[in-house]
Amino acid sequence: MSKEFIETLITKEMIDEKIDKLAKILNEEYKEKRPVFIVILKGAFIFAANLLTKLTMDLRVDFMVLSSYLGERNSSGKVRIEEDISIDIDDEDVVVIEDIIDTGLTYKTLKKKLLANSPRSLKLVTLLDKRSKRNVDENPDFTCFVIDDLFVVGYGLDYKQRYRNLPYIAVLKEE
Ligand code: 5GP
Repeated sequence: MSKEFIETLITKEMIDEKIDKLAKILNEEYKEKRPVFIVILKGAFIFAANLLTKLTMDLRVDFMVLSSYLGERNSSGKVRIEEDISIDIDDEDVVVIEDIIDTGLTYKTLKKKLLANSPRSLKLVTLLDKRSKRNVDENPDFTCFVIDDLFVVGYGLDYKQRYRNLPYIAVLKEE
């Protein structure tokens, strides 16, 4: 296998600035509400941690572990729910926090499952959006960055469980 190397695509400063803006929007939109934030693991853990600490409304947080890529660069085309939420979301305002929306299949599957539990509202926040790759009709309500069709790592996103600790988003290339 050829050697991998990374190239910065989005700096930590750019991410911090976007998260501040997004937090302001969410603080305004949900100020009279008590939303439930659902963090999609593993990839969204750093984004979610930084966003959630800037939110000021009375909120609850739950987690879901999903897998679709199975550690490879290409989607397996199947989404597996490895671990489900434990909060009852019936009649709640729900906000899903995702790392990246690629084909949209993961969110489509997730949305169907969450809507079956009758939330009052359901919105999606994502750090990254590969809009050109979308092949289902699902779009995020709040996006920090729209990116080209590149395989990215860092800020929670991995390649075979590596690179999650990078404080920025990088493109993974092969020499
Ligand atoms: P989708 O179902 O929208 O095609 O894929 C969403 C999931 O695929 C994301 O939650 C993420 O786990 C993974 N994914 C998609 N694109 C990338 C990428 O460029 N890098 C990494 N590390 N994961 C990705």
